[in-house]
Amino acid sequence: MSKDKKVMNELKSFIYTQLKKKYNKCLWPKSDCTENCIKAHSIQNGQILDQLASNNHVVMAVPTQNLNTGPEIEFQQVGRNLATTFTGLCQKHDSELFRPIDINEFDVSNQQQKFLIAYRSVLRELHTRIKAAIDLQTPYQKIVELGKCDPNNRDISELVTNTLANACDFYLYKQEYDKIYNTNSFTKIEHKCIRIERNCPLAVSSLFDPIKSIIGRKRLKPKLIVLNVFPQKQDTIILLSYLRDHQEDLRPYANEIINASVEDQLYLLSKTILRYCENFVISPQHFNLFSQEKIDTIKNFYLATLTLIDLDHNDKNLMLF
Ligand SMILES: [Zn+2]
Repeated sequence: MSKDKKVMNELKSFIYTQLKKKYNKCLWPKSDCTENCIKAHSIQNGQILDQLASNNHVVMAVPTQNLNTGPEIEFQQVGRNLATTFTGLCQKHDSELFRPIDINEFDVSNQQQKFLIAYRSVLRELHTRIKAAIDLQTPYQKIVELGKCDPNNRDISELVTNTLANACDFYLYKQEYDKIYNTNSFTKIEHKCIRIERNCPLAVSSLFDPIKSIIGRKRLKPKLIVLNVFPQKQDTIILLSYLRDHQEDLRPYANEIINASVEDQLYLLSKTILRYCENFVISPQHFNLFSQEKIDTIKNFYLATLTLIDLDHNDKNLMLF
C-alpha cells in the first residue's frame, strides 16, 4: 500500500470513529450538571412513538456518510427506544424537565406543555449542532496534522468556522428558552396550534429557519420556528412555536401554514419537513404504502435541499401524510 493511501485510510477510519462518538453533556438549565447522559427522547415515547410504532419500530430517514460519494439517506426501521434520542440530558433531569408532558395528555390551552414540547426540540437541536461542530473540527485538526490539508485552504477552514459559529449562535438562542423555563414565563413564546381531524402517520420535533434561507449567507441572530407534529388519538396536532420577540418576522411564515386549507396544510408541512428537518419518524404501516417512485422523489428532494435550501417544485409524491 502506498504511503498516501495508508494515510487516507487512517484518516477515513478516524472520521468514521468520530461520527460514531456520542457528545454527552446534560443541558439542564438550572445548574452545571456532570452526570452521565441517557438516550433522551426528543419525540415523546410513551404516547407518541407508541401510537406510530409497529413491532416497536418506526421508519426514519437515516443519513449515511459516504466519504467517496457524499451524503446519502436511507429510510430505515429504527427501534423506538433509539429513535429520535439524543445524549443531552441525564436521567434525573430528563424526567424532571419533561414530566408534565410525559405523564399528561396534550392540552392545547396549557402554556407550560406547549413550551416544554418546543423546549425539547430546542435542546435536541443544540445537541445536534454541537456534535456537528465537533465532528467537523476534530477530523479537520487530524487532516491538518496528517499534512493532507493546507491550513490556509479557506473553503474548509470557513466551513469549520461557520459550523462552530452556528453552534455558538444556537447556544445563545437556547439560553432564551432556559430563561423562560427558569422563570416560568411561558407566555414569552407564541404558539400556533392546529388540530386536524385525521389520523397522523408521523411525528416531527425540529426547528426551521425560514428567514435565513431567503436572506442568503449573511450571518444573523437565529430566528427560528419550532415545529412539532404528532398524533393525539385520531387527530393530527401541528404546533408551531417561536419567541414572541421574533413574532413580527416569523408570524407570516407560520400563518402561511395555519391559514391554508387542510390538504395544502399537510402538503406544505410535508415539504417543510423534508426541506428543513431530519428529526421525524413515520409509522411503518403508512410508509409501506409508499411506492418506490414516491420514496425516490422524497429522497431526492431531501438530499437536494441539503445544499439548495430554496429549491422548490411541486410533486404530489412529496406528500408525507
Ligand atoms: Zn443532569
